[in-house]
Amino acid sequence: PGAGKGTQATRLTQWLKVPHLSTGEALREAKAGGSRVGLEAALYMDGGKLVPDDLVLQIVADRLSEPEYQCGCLLDGFPRTLNQDEALDKLLTQRSRRLDLVLELACDQQELVRRLLDRAKKEGRVDDTPAIITHRFEAFLQQTAPLLQYYRDRGLLHSVDGMQPPDAVFEEICRIVDSVRSG
Ligand code: AMP
Repeated sequence: PGAGKGTQATRLTQWLKVPHLSTGEALREAKAGGSRVGLEAALYMDGGKLVPDDLVLQIVADRLSEPEYQCGCLLDGFPRTLNQDEALDKLLTQRSRRLDLVLELACDQQELVRRLLDRAKKEGRVDDTPAIITHRFEAFLQQTAPLLQYYRDRGLLHSVDGMQPPDAVFEEICRIVDSVRSG
């Protein structure tokens, strides 16, 4: 949380010309729309907890079936659990696709808290309060961080120093993507 994945994903998706699927954004839209899924998801999001896998996976499976997703896409904030990764593998295999690379934006926790509190002032996101930020870090450390080693072992993980200014982060990401593409 707060590492800049939304900002970088928005730029990267324009550069790569592939759709951007942010599960956080899709869940916030579902909540604002007042659907059953959205309201159930809000119970977890507003408390800084991860939304149950079945709700998130439904959103991802629906999107991956849309025509514009057939030439690839950028997943932002997903998968966040080992279970989600297994389900993603199945969804991709069914579509004869695979993960090309995984990007980690690495930041100090103190800096992340500063950025999130700053964003709270500007954007007023309900989950950017000190108590809820703490829960989001706990969720990251317990449920998401184990995925890093798993992707490292599969040779997919590329780590970028997220403490740099946004333009420098983006340049580094583009270099990594280019090197993976040229193969
Ligand atoms: P984000 O915008 O990526 O920071 O996500 C905001 C919130 O949405 C998170 O704190 C979670 O509650 C929920 N969320 C987003 N993506 C996922 C996911 N892949 N799995 C479970 N919950 C998620």
